[in-house]
Amino acid sequence: MTPVRPLGSCALVGAGPGDPDLLTLKALKCLQAATVVLVDDLVAPAILAHIPASARQIEVGKRGGCLSTPQAFIEKHMIQLVRQGERVVRLKGGDPFVLGRGGEELAHLQAAGIEVEVVNGITSGQAALTGLGVPLTHRDHAQGVLFITGHAQPGAQGPDWPSVAQLCHQQRITLLIYMGASRSAHIQASLLQGLPAHTPVAVVQNASRPDQRHAVTTLDALHDTLHAEGLGSPCIIAVGDVLTALAALHEQAAPPIKCAA
Ligand code: SAH
Repeated sequence: MTPVRPLGSCALVGAGPGDPDLLTLKALKCLQAATVVLVDDLVAPAILAHIPASARQIEVGKRGGCLSTPQAFIEKHMIQLVRQGERVVRLKGGDPFVLGRGGEELAHLQAAGIEVEVVNGITSGQAALTGLGVPLTHRDHAQGVLFITGHAQPGAQGPDWPSVAQLCHQQRITLLIYMGASRSAHIQASLLQGLPAHTPVAVVQNASRPDQRHAVTTLDALHDTLHAEGLGSPCIIAVGDVLTALAALHEQAAPPIKCAA
C-alpha cells in the first residue's frame, strides 16, 4: 500500500506595506516554515528575501488593470498543494483581510475542508499616515478611521462617495482610500459634495519602502496634485483633519508664490 501523505498546512499571511522590519514575528515564522509561497505582486522584494531558498516561490500578481492569475486558479492551486502535503503560505500585501480578497480565499479553502491560519499584517493605509508622522485618530480631529476601496469591482457601483464624505465630515472620520489613483478626479468631485474644499489630503505612494513619495494638498486639488507630482499606484489617498498640522508645515515650507508684475 502506498503511504498516504499527511495533509499540509495553509496560512494567509500579511506581508505588511513593504518595510521588512514591519513584518510580524508570526509572519516571519510562517515564511521560514513554508515549502511553497504564493506571492502577490504588491509584496516588496525586501520581504521576499525572507523566503527560504528551499521553498518554491510562485508569483500570482493581481494588480488592477494588469494581466493577472485568476483568483479561482490561485485558490484551486493552493488546495492542491495542501493536499499534496505542502506547507503553503499565501503572502499578501499589507493585511490579508483589508481589501485584499483574503475573505474570499479563506471561504474557498474552508469549503474544501482546509484549515487556514490567518496572520495579520500592517495595512498600507496605516503605514502611509504613520510614515508622515500623522496619527489615524486624534481627539481633536478624528474619532475613527475608514479603510475604503476607490476601485469598484466589475459590475458594481463602488462607494457612494457623497455619503462617505458626509459621514466623515459629520462624524470626524479619517478616510484612507486604497486603489483610488486612477479614479482620483471622480473621487475628488464626489467627496466635495460632503467635505469642504480645503480638507487636507495626503497621497502616499510606496509607503514604508525606500522609494516612498508623498504629496500634501487639499481636497479640491487632489487630482491635479496627483498628476503634477507624478504619483500613482500603489498609493493611499488619506483625507481628513488629522492632516491639518502636516498641511500647515507644508504651507510654511512651500516657496513663496511669485506675483506677476
Ligand atoms: N491588503 C492590502 C491592500 C490590497 S489592495 C493592505 O492591507 O495594504 C491594493 C492597494 O493597497 C493598492 O492599490 C494601494 O492603494 C494600496 N497599497 C498597497 N501597498 C501599498 C504601499 N506600500 N503604499 C501605498 N499603498 C499601498
